[in-house]
Amino acid sequence: MITALTAKSVYPHRSVCLIKDVGDGVIPCAIPYMIHTIPDPNQNIMGCGPLDKAEIETIIDKAIALNVEEKRIDLASGQSIFYDRLVLATGMMPAMPPVTGIRTPGVFGIEKSLSAMRTLRERCRQAERIVILGGGFIGAEFADEIARGSKAEVHVVEMMPKLLYFAFDDEFCDMIQQSLEEAGVHLHLNQRVVTIDGGEQVRSVTLEDGEKIPADLVIVGVGGKPNVALAAEAGLRITAGGSIWVDDYMRTNAQAIFAVGDCALKRDFFTRKEVPVWLASTATAEARIAGTNIYGIRVLRQIQGTIAAFSTKIGGKAFASAGLTCRGCGQEGFRWVCGRSIAPDRHPGTLPGAMPMHVKLVFADRAGTLLGGQAAGGESVGELINTIAVGIQKQLNVRELDMMQIATHPLLTSAPTVHPLINAAHMALAKLRGQASCP
Ligand SMILES: Cc1cc2nc3c(=O)[nH]c(=O)nc-3n(C[C@H](O)[C@H](O)[C@H](O)COP(=O)(O)OP(=O)(O)OC[C@H]3O[C@@H](n4cnc5c(N)ncnc54)[C@H](O)[C@@H]3O)c2cc1C
Repeated sequence: MITALTAKSVYPHRSVCLIKDVGDGVIPCAIPYMIHTIPDPNQNIMGCGPLDKAEIETIIDKAIALNVEEKRIDLASGQSIFYDRLVLATGMMPAMPPVTGIRTPGVFGIEKSLSAMRTLRERCRQAERIVILGGGFIGAEFADEIARGSKAEVHVVEMMPKLLYFAFDDEFCDMIQQSLEEAGVHLHLNQRVVTIDGGEQVRSVTLEDGEKIPADLVIVGVGGKPNVALAAEAGLRITAGGSIWVDDYMRTNAQAIFAVGDCALKRDFFTRKEVPVWLASTATAEARIAGTNIYGIRVLRQIQGTIAAFSTKIGGKAFASAGLTCRGCGQEGFRWVCGRSIAPDRHPGTLPGAMPMHVKLVFADRAGTLLGGQAAGGESVGELINTIAVGIQKQLNVRELDMMQIATHPLLTSAPTVHPLINAAHMALAKLRGQASCP
């Protein structure tokens, strides 16, 4: 949608057509909240209104073949569409892990359609014991939503040592886990599900340590695989990680064909390695690049890798992360220093609604370049991380952050005297000067 809207606004005289196979799509990021928080699932429909308004034609059909030489897309209905530019934005397929019993009735993957979500919502509301496979952000958000909205017993099984292990350092993972445990969620970390038992209907899941968890519903939120079938069958280059290869302008190796979003290659901002980061925010940035550059390069190298800027809300608290964590620095061989700070997000902190805001910033040792940041606290964390994200992309230095000019207000922000973003930078700077110990 964003590629189409961007292309139409940059090239208003071109005709733009969007083909999608799901007629009743939903806004994916709000899927977990369709269980209880959103009163009517229809309120999360992804409508075609903006496309209609921009005079973009929408065809509800499935693209089944791509002919690169003839610049032709064949649809399941038998229709063919000829293009002079093509953008593949086929997303990803939810992964179903190779677990015995994964096809048992009562096991649900996450599908981005209203009909599928209506079914899952009903099943979640009836279920008494729910097991969620996967403790990434999708699993954690579902667990929080279900545990706070119903009396169902909720279990999360995660094979890593902590929830959201790839996005956060331990102390933030621990805060997220504590919020979920306070809501009554049972966590099974460092564990895999080996079988889903029941036959006609799910009855339990068995973990690799032999524990059996009774369950009448299993939700699978273990990520997915880029949906590249159309591109692969047409001979486009596919990466080792299974994505459509693209350059910095979202161009595939085939002339006049672009790819964006979950189906397209993601490179890490710092290492340029292929990384499994699939976010709507990254997808839309790529869509704007492709839509703008579709008839010639107008915007130069704006996406030089993903910084995986990400936020979520668990147990009424916001958590956010961007760039490298300390753990990630260690794994990739970066020398780093970090600064931490906590302050109320109102001043004075006695004001109604004030919450402690935790900020951790990670800088390159010696150079002092901002590599990453994490934050937890009230709702302002959702935008604070975007400031950090810009800082990472612009490769801000610790001194620039230490001297940063900011706006503050008692009802809106931390006090200027203790602002945790600046204080975290200040602390890291002291370490860089050798005045404090690391980490
Ligand atoms: C539960 C959940 C919560 C999420 N929360 C967040 C969040 O808070 N923040 C965030 O940044 N990201 C979030 N994401 C990730 C985000 O949803 C994805 O990164 C984003 O949707 C990717 O956009 P896309 O256009 O690449 O793919 P999609 O949104 O999956 O769209 C691809 C579309 O292409 C269609 N399609 C595929 N093949 C064909 C074909 N052959 N013919 C026609 N149509 C086809 C699909 O049916 C689909 O409609 C979440 C994802 C989920 C599942």
